[in-house]
Amino acid sequence: MKTVEIIVPCYNEEKCIFLFYEKLKEVFMTLSQYRLILTYIDDGSTDGTMNEIKRLEKTARQEKIQYLSFSRNFGKEAAIYAGLLKSTGDYVTVMDADLQHPPELLKEMLYAIENEGYDCATARRVSRRGELPVRSTLSKCFYHVISKITAINLISGSTDYRLMTRKVVNAILSMPERERFTKGLYAWVGFNNKWIEYENRKRVAGRSKWNMRGLFRYAYSGIISFAITPLRGVIYLGLVITLAAFIYAGYVGIAALYAGEGGRNGYTSIMIAILFIGGVIITILGMIGEYLARIYLEVKKRPIYLEKESNLEGEHGIEEPEKEEYDKKTTN
Ligand code: UDP
Ligand code: MG
Repeated sequence: MKTVEIIVPCYNEEKCIFLFYEKLKEVFMTLSQYRLILTYIDDGSTDGTMNEIKRLEKTARQEKIQYLSFSRNFGKEAAIYAGLLKSTGDYVTVMDADLQHPPELLKEMLYAIENEGYDCATARRVSRRGELPVRSTLSKCFYHVISKITAINLISGSTDYRLMTRKVVNAILSMPERERFTKGLYAWVGFNNKWIEYENRKRVAGRSKWNMRGLFRYAYSGIISFAITPLRGVIYLGLVITLAAFIYAGYVGIAALYAGEGGRNGYTSIMIAILFIGGVIITILGMIGEYLARIYLEVKKRPIYLEKESNLEGEHGIEEPEKEEYDKKTTN
């Protein structure tokens, strides 16, 4: 009997836990040939999410309910990573707790993997009904830009909701970077993927954790994680400016030759040149600083999350390869 493991990142989702479970049970009534594991990753919730999960653990009969809770809010990306790291199922998927990722798509996903030879199947939103138009437009721009300037091809509307075989899960986990952008990692690892399309759903209860600022940060982080184009673009920008400066210098030189005494006032052109070049240099420094900061964060090798509580077997809050080193440090 194959096992399907569902990882559910939760951040203040007390109202959604039972609604989600009820719906999932309904779907699995028709998928009785699989064993179900539900792994809740509580991303430092401050409401009753953990209580709800524990209550569920006591009442659930057929399926295995696991949980792992973080010492604080580390973000959805960290929660996904923790879930995948601890996963044991034959097929693993990540699903939002608010039922915006329709559980019934699992049937189609399982069919694609088991009967059509795919390694993974990913849900893709084809409509953004019920979403603010400004958010849809900005997010379309984001997909366009990231696909243009990075080597990965991100499909608009793609989600984190993907059913994967163990092979794909291991591939995702083989990337140990701290600043994680799961959608990009999904695209980067390749494999045979089937897109499963669906219409946007409204959140079943509670509120979205994203505001515009958060979304901007997410988009920005995605681009910086995968694109080195901005860094390369800087060189071209520098060359173009140098060339422009040469041309302008030639022009000013010739003009000065022909101008009389009064025409040799170079104040304006000098000011323009200084301000322009100054602006460009500061921008470029900022851009380099951005990548430098990333390198700094990566070399520090801080854990992606810290565990507070869990009912998982053989668990610890540090990734396997770093556990030994961590133990050494803390016992000294
Ligand atoms: N989430 C999380 N950590 C966070 C923010 C969100 O684990 O810091 C979870 C959240 O509980 C939900 C999923 O990620 O299960 C998607 O979040 P949300 O519904 O708020 O995002 P939206 O659907 O509005 O993009
Ligand atoms: Mg949501």
